[in-house]
Amino acid sequence: MKESITLILDGTPPIKPPKRRMDWKGKYVKTLRDMQNGLMFVPKGTVCQVLYTHRGASLRTTRCECCGVAVYLDRVAWTDLQYLGDLP
Ligand SMILES: [Zn+2]
Repeated sequence: MKESITLILDGTPPIKPPKRRMDWKGKYVKTLRDMQNGLMFVPKGTVCQVLYTHRGASLRTTRCECCGVAVYLDRVAWTDLQYLGDLP
């Protein structure tokens, strides 16, 4: 329920996520809360690509538009992610 509210406020059209987590691999998600990996801070709303689906999601953020930095995140809870599918 919390996720669907976020979707509405966001204006992003909801896309039905695949049931099998392994099918999220290679797809894009948006973070629903602030995160950090010990070194780097990743703000809520960051678009990331799913690299692995073992023990939660392993993610790589899209590169920062100003400096080109990308951040890796491991073991992210699926409930902290909004499924986006393929980026246009
Ligand atoms: Zn930057």
